[in-house]
Amino acid sequence: MKRAVPDLLVVGDVCLCEYTDHGHCGVIQDGEVENDASVYLLGKVAVTQARAGVDLVAPSDMMDGRVAGIRKALDAAGLSRVPIMSYAAKTASAFYGPFREAAGSTPQFGDRQSYQMQGTNADEAMKEIRLDADEGADILLVKPALPCLDLIRRAKAEFGSPLAAYQVSGEYAMIKAAAQRGMLDETRAMWETLYAIRRAGADIILTYFAPTVAELL
Ligand SMILES: [Zn+2]
Repeated sequence: MKRAVPDLLVVGDVCLCEYTDHGHCGVIQDGEVENDASVYLLGKVAVTQARAGVDLVAPSDMMDGRVAGIRKALDAAGLSRVPIMSYAAKTASAFYGPFREAAGSTPQFGDRQSYQMQGTNADEAMKEIRLDADEGADILLVKPALPCLDLIRRAKAEFGSPLAAYQVSGEYAMIKAAAQRGMLDETRAMWETLYAIRRAGADIILTYFAPTVAELL
């Protein structure tokens, strides 16, 4: 990808769930997610991606200490120039549904709730974001976007920039599906949501609408 389009910013999603047969984001031992073994592997994934040419690694797994672990692994491999965009506040959400279906990454047993945050506690979310910031994350990401506008707002106020927000598959799909049924104007609904995310304080927006937006801007 970098060879074909050198100017394109390529972000590597660092996680294990795409490569585990059980679909969990980490190593499973005795039915439990083994945090430190997972962090070790995440470091290796990040280094592999950086060597392949990604501009930015984005750990999405939510293991404890992964930002520091990945930073250490990258630095040790002479890749200290590669920044980390951490999924700092990734709340458990129904809006991940379409992606999981497409990626086949729904866990085969249990769910991700032991390592994904419940969306109900904003103070807890700020604590998680602070941990990632302290561990050396260069960009902090909040996900999903629309159901977490308040978290985006607070994170921007508390941690400054750069702050990213991820408009996830379900947020995209619900606009698409409603537009297909003639229930709303797709382009206007798209802009409205993107403006809201921006207004809340996001410096960067990750969205499936990106190709459309790039044409319109
Ligand atoms: Zn994962």
